[in-house]
Amino acid sequence: MTTVMKQDQTMTVNANSPATSKAVTADAGRLKRTKIIATLGPATSSPECITKLVQAGVNVFRLNMSHGNGQDQMEWVKMIRAVSEALKQPIAILADLQGPKIRTGYLKDGQPIPLDDYAVVEFTTRTRESSPGIIATKYVELIQVLEPGAIILLDDGKIRLEVLEKVSADTLKCQVVQGGMLEARKGINVPGAALPITPLTDKDKEDVRAAVAAGVDYVALSFVQRAEDIIELKEYVKSFDMVCPPVIAKIEKPQALTEIDNILREADGLMVARGDLGVELRPEEVPVAQKMLVSKANQAEKPIIIATQMLESMIGSLQPSRSDVSDIANAVFDGSDVLMLSGETSVGEHPVETVAMMSRIIYEAEKSMVTGMDHPAEASQITSPNFYHAIAHTASYASRKANVKALVVFSSSGSMAQRVSKLKPSRPIIALTFKQDVANRMTLLWGVIPLVIPSSEHTDAMLEQGEQAILEKNLLQNGDSVVFCAGNTQMKGATNMLKIYHLGTVD
Ligand code: PGA
Ligand code: MN
Repeated sequence: MTTVMKQDQTMTVNANSPATSKAVTADAGRLKRTKIIATLGPATSSPECITKLVQAGVNVFRLNMSHGNGQDQMEWVKMIRAVSEALKQPIAILADLQGPKIRTGYLKDGQPIPLDDYAVVEFTTRTRESSPGIIATKYVELIQVLEPGAIILLDDGKIRLEVLEKVSADTLKCQVVQGGMLEARKGINVPGAALPITPLTDKDKEDVRAAVAAGVDYVALSFVQRAEDIIELKEYVKSFDMVCPPVIAKIEKPQALTEIDNILREADGLMVARGDLGVELRPEEVPVAQKMLVSKANQAEKPIIIATQMLESMIGSLQPSRSDVSDIANAVFDGSDVLMLSGETSVGEHPVETVAMMSRIIYEAEKSMVTGMDHPAEASQITSPNFYHAIAHTASYASRKANVKALVVFSSSGSMAQRVSKLKPSRPIIALTFKQDVANRMTLLWGVIPLVIPSSEHTDAMLEQGEQAILEKNLLQNGDSVVFCAGNTQMKGATNMLKIYHLGTVD
C-alpha cells in the first residue's frame, strides 16, 4: 500500500526477492528519509529535467551564485516553482552566495606563470596582473595578516607557497614549496589565518537582494568565520525591509570549527563544505571535522548538510565508485539530514541517474538502521527543558511504543516539525501547515513529508482537514493509527497537544 508502510523500519519489506527489490528501488526517491539537494546548472536547467530530478528524489535545488548571472538564477526560481505546482509537491530553493572567495589576478599578456619548486617569488597587491616571478592579488588584507612561515595555497591547493618575509606594506617574499602552472583568477586559501574581510561582498549583497525578492527558501553563506558574519547577513536583509530566509552557514574554514558553538547559535543550519574545507585543513582532517559537525548540529537541533564530491565518480560514468557509495551510506549512519550534489547535477553527464543512485544508497542504509532517537534516554541528550521539547520527545517515543504508522505534526512555522525531525523517529513525519512557503522550507527536514491544508481556527477542523489531505495523497488509509502533535499554535485547543488515535475516529 502506502509510502508510509514501506518506510517503517521496524517492518522491513523483504528486499531480497527480485520483484520486491525492483519495486522498492524504483520508489527509493520517495521513500528515503534523508533529503537530497541538487545544484542546478547547464546540465539540468529545463522544466523536464527538474521534473525528472524531483521524481528521482531531489527535495531542494541549490542555485550557485558563484556561476552564471543573477538574472538566469532567478529564471530558475520561476521554473522550479512551476514544476512544484505541476507535481503538487513542495520544493525548497537554496541560494548559495559566493562569499569572499579570494583570487589571484589576471595574467600579463594572458600567459600562464610557471612556478618551479624552491623558486622565490613576490606576492603583491602592487599590480593587478601576474607575471613571471610576481603573483598579483587585490586583497591587501592578506599581506597584512600573513607572517613569515605562513602557507598560501593557490588553485585548490595545487600550488603551495611559504611566506619568507614581509618586504613592504604591499608585498610578501615567498618560496614555492609545491610548484605548478598558475592560470588567471585562481582561488587563494590561507589555512589558519583569520582574515579581517567581510563575509558579505558587494556581489553577495546584490545577489542576496535579488534572491530574497525572488522568494528563495534558504540562503547559504560561504566562508563563515564567526557568528557575527551571520548576524551581518541577517541585518543586511532586514535593512531593506525584507524577511531574511533561514541562513545555512557553510563550514569551510578552520576558524569556523573553533567558533562552531557560537556559529550554531546564529545559523539556522550547517553545511559541511568539504571542497574548500579539504584545502584549508589537511584532507585527512575532514572526516573528523564532518563527524564533529554532524554531532554538534544534532545536539543544537539544526539541519546538517554534507556537501561536495559525494558521487563525483558518476559525473562521467554510470558506475559509482565503491568509496562514493560508502561515503553516502556512512553520512546517513552518522546522522546527517541532507546530502548535496554539486558538479554531479550542474555539469555532469548523468544527473538523473546520479540522483536515483543516491536515493537508493540512502534508502538501503536507512533500512538497515534499527534505532531512531525515539527512545527517551537518547532523546534526553538534546533536551533543554520546555513544553515543545517534551511534546516532541513524547510523540516520537509514543510513535514507537504504540506502533503507529506515522507521526503527524502540525507546524505553523516549521519549528515543531524540525524538533521532531531531529529526533530521527523510526516513523515517517507528516507535517501539516497552512502556508505553502512553510511547506517548501520543510522539504529540507529529515524524514518530513510536508502537506499544505486550508487554514482553520479550531483544532477539530484542522485535524479533519489534515486527515482528508493525508488520505487524498494516499499517505495513509482510514483506520491507520497515528500520533498527532502540535506545538505553539494560535488555534483554540491545539497548543502543546498530543493525541494517539486511528484516522477516521476523531472524537
Ligand atoms: P562551493 O562550496 O561549491 O560553493 O565551493 C562547497 C565546498 O566548498 O565544498
Ligand atoms: Mn566552497
